[in-house]
Amino acid sequence: MAQPTISFEFFPPKTPASEKMLWESIPLLAALAPKFMTVTYGAGGSTKDGTCETVLRMKKETGIPVAAHLTYINMPIETLRELTGNWWAQGIRQIVAIRGDLPEGLAWPLDPDPAYFQQTSTFVKALKSWNDFEISVGAYPEKHPSAPDSKADIEALKQKCDAGADRAITQFFFDNDVYYRFVDACRATGITAPICPGLLPIHDFAGMLRFAARCKTSVPDPIREQFSGLEGKPEEAHKRAIDILTRQVRDLAENGAEHLHFYTLNKSAITREACEMFGFPRNSG
Ligand code: FAD
Repeated sequence: MAQPTISFEFFPPKTPASEKMLWESIPLLAALAPKFMTVTYGAGGSTKDGTCETVLRMKKETGIPVAAHLTYINMPIETLRELTGNWWAQGIRQIVAIRGDLPEGLAWPLDPDPAYFQQTSTFVKALKSWNDFEISVGAYPEKHPSAPDSKADIEALKQKCDAGADRAITQFFFDNDVYYRFVDACRATGITAPICPGLLPIHDFAGMLRFAARCKTSVPDPIREQFSGLEGKPEEAHKRAIDILTRQVRDLAENGAEHLHFYTLNKSAITREACEMFGFPRNSG
């Protein structure tokens, strides 16, 4: 079986409790030898400093490459140029380049304004031209909610890859067949960049359902059934979550996935246990 590499996403902590959780999780997950880790960027720049500080501390404490997510919506091009110039000067070399969700009351596309990026592909191209960042972009196996159809969505991904993205990381999904079909469709349009599956450990079933509804990610019936009757039974729910994630990881690896990206939500237990059951840490190179 092929040996996938792994990566982990975190978010900048906003409270003392979430700060504690993050920094307790980092060494436990870093011990699995991920290829890289990433830190999200709050909508509209709400975590600008938090993202950079978290990235730099994670890099320093683990020695593992860490990517900063960056959204461009609502931020002038010149500000983005200055910000990423500062990041480069501080040693950040990887960016997850993302449009960002629209603030309340705004519809896409925004009124054209030459001071702002209008397309993620243009953003990717500019980032590459400003500094030699390694760039990841988002991909949507079940279609981005705002895309008119799957064809347009895959075309948008192709434009981001043609603009220089080094890899795509997908929105989370639970049905691997959806991912396999998506990858086939991407390859058929000429996308050659790695399309890394994004996996969400189910820490809180009800919370996951709300999140999935927002992202339009489908939750297959067998997963719903496995959590049925487990309200108030956290230990059993935890075991089911590990089992679901382990099976998903095994199937992806057996079907040739070269890299797996975990949305950790800053928690280590389920991701770590699923990865360990699957044989990590390995020689993640
Ligand atoms: P894009 O690729 O730009 O667009 C998504 C779809 O919208 C396209 O496929 C296209 O069909 C359609 N579209 C794009 N441009 C146009 C246009 N001009 N006209 C009509 N339709 C258009 N959000 C955050 O706030 N912070 C984060 O750190 C963050 N990290 C993420 C990381 C990953 C791996 C993923 C998958 C998502 C992340 N998000 C984050 C969520 C993201 O901001 C939203 O999904 C956002 O709505 C889309 O961003 P994008 O860059 O992937 O989309």
